[in-house]
Amino acid sequence: MKLYFETSNFPWLPERYHYAAEQMMLTLFPGERPEYPEGPPPEVLSGEGNAVIFTLRRGEKQASVSALVFRNQERFDGVRRFPSEELDRPPEEVYHTVQHALKLAFYKAGTALLGVNPPWGALTGVRPVKLPTRALLAGSTPKQAQKELEKEYFVSPDRAKLAVDCAQASVAAQRSLKEGEVSLYVGIPFCPTRCAYCSFISADVKGSLALVEPYVDALCREIELAGTLLRARGLGVSCAYMGGGTPTTLSAEQLHRVLSAVEEFLPMEGCAEFTVEAGRPDTITADKLDVLRFHNIHRISINPQTMQRQPAGLMRNLMNPNYELSVWDETVDVCLPFIKGYTPPYYPVVFNYVLPSVQGYTTEQTHDGWTVTFQTSLFSANTYTFSLEIYSRYGGATLTISSPFYNSVQYTGSIISI
Ligand code: SF4
Repeated sequence: MKLYFETSNFPWLPERYHYAAEQMMLTLFPGERPEYPEGPPPEVLSGEGNAVIFTLRRGEKQASVSALVFRNQERFDGVRRFPSEELDRPPEEVYHTVQHALKLAFYKAGTALLGVNPPWGALTGVRPVKLPTRALLAGSTPKQAQKELEKEYFVSPDRAKLAVDCAQASVAAQRSLKEGEVSLYVGIPFCPTRCAYCSFISADVKGSLALVEPYVDALCREIELAGTLLRARGLGVSCAYMGGGTPTTLSAEQLHRVLSAVEEFLPMEGCAEFTVEAGRPDTITADKLDVLRFHNIHRISINPQTMQRQPAGLMRNLMNPNYELSVWDETVDVCLPFIKGYTPPYYPVVFNYVLPSVQGYTTEQTHDGWTVTFQTSLFSANTYTFSLEIYSRYGGATLTISSPFYNSVQYTGSIISI
């Protein structure tokens, strides 16, 4: 998707807002990747099928950010207004105001186009509890915090309530800290791969393997220094969390070194709970679990990323599937990137896997190519209907997977061979 920033109305710095625009783009259009064309937006965008133009305007009293979304020959507008004087505040505050307005303007245009509101509304990132926690700490009642999520961020009432419930638990935990107690966070900023939606500081371990060992060395040194500092001030750790990234991306030996440094140098005598995030299940191995048990870790946190047994979505690496097609007389064989019986999350992408148990297989020749429809089970319990529209003229395909239990999921992919 092309992301244009109009700068002729107001001298804003578009590069600062790329991240905000991308976050909302991924929320609304998960299969898209951002493109930043050079120069100003074209005067005429009527032929443009996939673009957004962001514009910041300042009036005497009111300023606004607008998002014009062009998609499939249609155009949708979203505007978010705020008092002009907010643009005279310090740069960091201006940034927060403008990026929030940009996201909401994009959200309004995008949801008008899609005709649906995501359950988490315009919230992006992975910490929906942060906002209600901040509101509660600032004196809002739970009801007010929930209303803010619903009205300002368009979060559905049940998700807003869930977030506020969690925020109340966070605030209670925070308030239960006694004098002289601190909570400890140890960050491991590496993951096996980078999830498209992630807003954490983390790097794909394959691309940054050379950094892991020096990082572990530096971390152990920092743990030693932090321990000296805490002991000198008479502070003790009451709870500890090792997160990331995905800490279990480290090898068993590296985990052992970090946890040994924690034990040796930090005042952990009064630590009631030490959690290690075992994050992505594909990083958990028996030797790493042995290390965690050896160091008396109380709890591990495993993040399956979704509990829905529905076909893979963006976060499960299948957003750009390729299809291999073979044509036999009047019929078409389709090889899809799925593995029968493999439950989410779907890290591996397997091409050329011919699905067994195909039922109701039909092919229909269309003006553009073919439509292939069949049923099969991806999982032991459910039968899914696959409808694959193949555009042989330009090598694209749209795969729709539906089941009686879940919303349909669509993938736009490319044909790698016929
Ligand atoms: S596993 Fe978690 S921290 Fe790592 S890239 Fe994915 S969402 Fe981010």
